[in-house]
Amino acid sequence: MAMKTVTKSTCCYCGVGCGVLIESDGDRITGIQGDPSHPANFGRLCTKGMTLPATAASLTGRALYPEMRLTRDAERQRIDWDAALDTVSERFADIIERHGPDAVAFYVSGQLLTEDYYVFNKLAKGVVGTNNIDTNSRLCMSSAVTAYKLALGADGPPTCYEDLELADCVLLAGSNMAYAHPVLFRRLEAAKATRPATKWVVIDPRRTDTAAMADLHLQIQPGTDVALFNGMLHHLIWEGLVDPAYIAAHTAGFAELKKLVRDYTPKMAAELCGILEADLIQAAEWFGASGGASLSLYCMGLNQSAHGTDKNLALINLHLATGQIGKPGAGPFSLTGQPNAMGGREVGGMATMLAAHRDIAIPSHRAEVAEVWGVPAGRLSNQPGLPAVAMFDAIRDGRIKAVWIACTNPAHSLPDAGKVAEALEMAEFVVVQEAFTNTDTVPYADVLLPAATWGEKAGTVTNSERRISRVRAAVAAPGEARPDWWIACEVAKRIAARLYPDEAAGFAYVETSAIFDEHRRLTVGRDLDIGGLDYALLESHGPQQWPLPAGMRQGLARRYVDGGFATPDGRARFHATPYKPVAEPTNARYPFHLLTGRLRDQWHGMSRTGRLPQLFAHTPEPSLTMHPHDAERRGLKAGDLVRVASKRGALVLPLAIGNDVPSGSVFAAMHWNGQFLNSLGINETSVPMVDARSFQPELKHAAVRIERAELP
Ligand code: SF4
Repeated sequence: MAMKTVTKSTCCYCGVGCGVLIESDGDRITGIQGDPSHPANFGRLCTKGMTLPATAASLTGRALYPEMRLTRDAERQRIDWDAALDTVSERFADIIERHGPDAVAFYVSGQLLTEDYYVFNKLAKGVVGTNNIDTNSRLCMSSAVTAYKLALGADGPPTCYEDLELADCVLLAGSNMAYAHPVLFRRLEAAKATRPATKWVVIDPRRTDTAAMADLHLQIQPGTDVALFNGMLHHLIWEGLVDPAYIAAHTAGFAELKKLVRDYTPKMAAELCGILEADLIQAAEWFGASGGASLSLYCMGLNQSAHGTDKNLALINLHLATGQIGKPGAGPFSLTGQPNAMGGREVGGMATMLAAHRDIAIPSHRAEVAEVWGVPAGRLSNQPGLPAVAMFDAIRDGRIKAVWIACTNPAHSLPDAGKVAEALEMAEFVVVQEAFTNTDTVPYADVLLPAATWGEKAGTVTNSERRISRVRAAVAAPGEARPDWWIACEVAKRIAARLYPDEAAGFAYVETSAIFDEHRRLTVGRDLDIGGLDYALLESHGPQQWPLPAGMRQGLARRYVDGGFATPDGRARFHATPYKPVAEPTNARYPFHLLTGRLRDQWHGMSRTGRLPQLFAHTPEPSLTMHPHDAERRGLKAGDLVRVASKRGALVLPLAIGNDVPSGSVFAAMHWNGQFLNSLGINETSVPMVDARSFQPELKHAAVRIERAELP
């Protein structure tokens, strides 16, 4: 009888980063438990985490062998790994030689492990010499990153999960935490049960399951968050609920902000937001006069916006003005959507940053990275690369000829998805590195590289509270699937040998621990210093938060506790942020606000969760939810097929009727895709406008019209 083994690892879905114990019989994953010793979840798991063994069990729809097609019309055929790696490296090197390094691009994922991310970044920036490497994390948290840097001087939340249990006022903004971060929500609920005086304020245009639990739900008009935060600050200032001593000692820019928010009277702000003035005042008073600690938890509702950076900054203003930061239970706490969006930031795996929170534009930063990578400093480009949306525009207009997509599904998840599909049709060469074949992007692959996935690969991830956890393999990958880091290294060695035959190859890693060691070397002296953290410490002391410099045995739970921020003068910066409306306001032709969001039991494009019938029990079908009054006025009833159309595209969905959306708005989940619909999903309609500073697109809102669909 096969021996049962238990492997400690981390859930591969959301940014909570729950610890798991994977049970296996050596060949197959047979069960899962929450890890009671993991400080993120203490043994809890949500539906998605609990069903990981079932989603891992089937090989149907797994990418098992490298495949290639010789022409666009041909079917891909199985080839061996050497042929696949040679083809990818030769086609990339050819294009680089003919058109320069910026003619190729890499589009990676917050689902990659830190070690995978690290080598992809090193390949793009250190071997190819382009910053054209961006990630689906651009769609997730880049507005939060930009705002942290502008306001606090460095990326990363100042808070930790324990703060959920210590807060006296919790402001949940643009986050349906009950669905998107279920285990953290359970922690919040448990804290409320033991400390019932804690106040929850939920800011969301929809009455989500999270909002239904709130002491106060501010059902604002879509995109009016900045007006709300400015109105709350106005009330706090004029009622003497700010902290003048903290402002004087630790911040800069308050006078300008005060001047701006003078105009945002609670009455005016409440009118803009479409809520009661008394409710706005109540929220401000709970936040400012909590008598203890106020914590903000926020996510895509703030970030996925053409004004996402402003929304984040306006919320951080509230914390700085009241001194609600750098102490237990307090602070602005952005929740990362993906399991390793944070790790990607740490290694600089985006078009606009370098390793360890360094800056592309600073020559000494490029030189430091080049030295560790063993490449000439001049190889590292001083020009930012193209962020996600612009990257696919550049493919469409021919500036980028070849793209390598790893562990993500841009044909479904980027805005204006029809245009993204067009770009993939037009590219000279498309490489897709994937564990699953059931995505909307795989059909565009000229070469498909089969990747190992959860339960089959090793490395680390960093969760929303800056905690680094080990990911371990419990079983071997099926077929010829290989770890993402291995695939990137093999191609990197071949491209480097062709372009720079006299250079020593810098990708001879045998284990992921060697990649992690190189990464942590680059962090020394930086704000995220993990010079004291290696795999041995993670083994002996468990998951750790950064920073953890050499000499420490435990990471720092909270940052900025002494009020010293990561800016040159140590002062945090207020930012005067005027309210701006949504990128695409409704009008007579497109009269509805389309809001998008997540379902409880599905994940992203459903390549994994869509494999399991029981995960459809909660929400069996795609739908468009409309308020009963709007449906009645249009003579529509539940189950009718409706056509949802924006200026860019349209799709047909069954209608659901619900009071959870306000009149004038409709809601659709973002998961459903080409597997289930005769379309790429709701992003056929979404707005490709991006935030000017974070380049995050406005995925949460579009103006649409709704018509009864004509049956063919
Ligand atoms: Fe996995 Fe997130 Fe659920 Fe935890 S809360 S089990 S990390 S999906």
